[in-house]
Amino acid sequence: MSVLSLSETGPRRPSLEERASGAYLGFAVGDALGAPVEFMTPREIRAAHNGIHDSMTGGGWLRLRPGQVTDDTQMSLALGGAMLAGGGWNLRAVADSFAGWLQSRPVDVGNTCRRGIRRYLQTGTLRGAPAEEDGGNGALMRNLPVALGTPPPRDADTVLGDGDAVFARRSIEQARITHGHVLSDEATVALGRMTRVLLSGGTREDCRRIADGLVARHRVFAFEPWPGRTSGYVVDTVQTVLDVFFRGETFEACLLDVVNRGGDADTNGALTGQLAGALWGVRAIPERWLRKLDERVRAEISAQARGLLLLGRWSARAAAPEDKT
Ligand code: MN
Ligand code: MN
Repeated sequence: MSVLSLSETGPRRPSLEERASGAYLGFAVGDALGAPVEFMTPREIRAAHNGIHDSMTGGGWLRLRPGQVTDDTQMSLALGGAMLAGGGWNLRAVADSFAGWLQSRPVDVGNTCRRGIRRYLQTGTLRGAPAEEDGGNGALMRNLPVALGTPPPRDADTVLGDGDAVFARRSIEQARITHGHVLSDEATVALGRMTRVLLSGGTREDCRRIADGLVARHRVFAFEPWPGRTSGYVVDTVQTVLDVFFRGETFEACLLDVVNRGGDADTNGALTGQLAGALWGVRAIPERWLRKLDERVRAEISAQARGLLLLGRWSARAAAPEDKT
């Protein structure tokens, strides 16, 4: 299988800004596209959508408006907002932001996320005890702002240290607010690393090496052949997203493939959109999907993507913000 396509070796690669906004907007587009078919089977999707679900219909079990996003995008915005407001990394500010979001009566909340945020509200502790039932994808799904807002992989900083180590530490810290599970930690770091390699100008083959490393450490993540499960268990999510991402030839093809597999379609769609958007850039996202995306969400994401790149000093021109830890 070749994972290199013409579109990633052609004359014009998307700019850093286009890859970053592509990742974040691609994530939200995947959430809004997948949510109306969340928890459906492929057969149910075919029957309900004339063979294929390919537009921002709204509806679904959450009775969404067309283009409305769910907890996946909202928790990401809460995390990114806390990073930007604090001008750096402050885990308590992240937890407070999750708490504020939970108290805003969101359209959907995962059970593990709800339990972890409630524990934080009641006890003030930033992490719970490890638990077998914490293996859902809720920490993985919201980590993109950490990938964007932390210095690039090869950027060593005298205060922060190596960019990749800082990224892994922050990712696990935010994950542990709600999810005390090693496979959640591993998945959160691995998909974030892939995103960061793509933002740095890397290819799918570079992502492939990260995926192979993950599988070598934890065989349970092996995704070839795809085991066919699309639940919210973090292993199912990683296998599905990687199977789609390594085989798809365009952003649109990846997104159509993943959401029509059903199951946790919004989260799988969001994470696939994150990787595909980071690879092909914002201009690869079909305009008919972007146009339907909730206007306020679209504006907030665009602003956060720009702000987080500055915060992470991805661009040499960016001012160096203070780190709070
Ligand atoms: Mn959701
Ligand atoms: Mn979901």
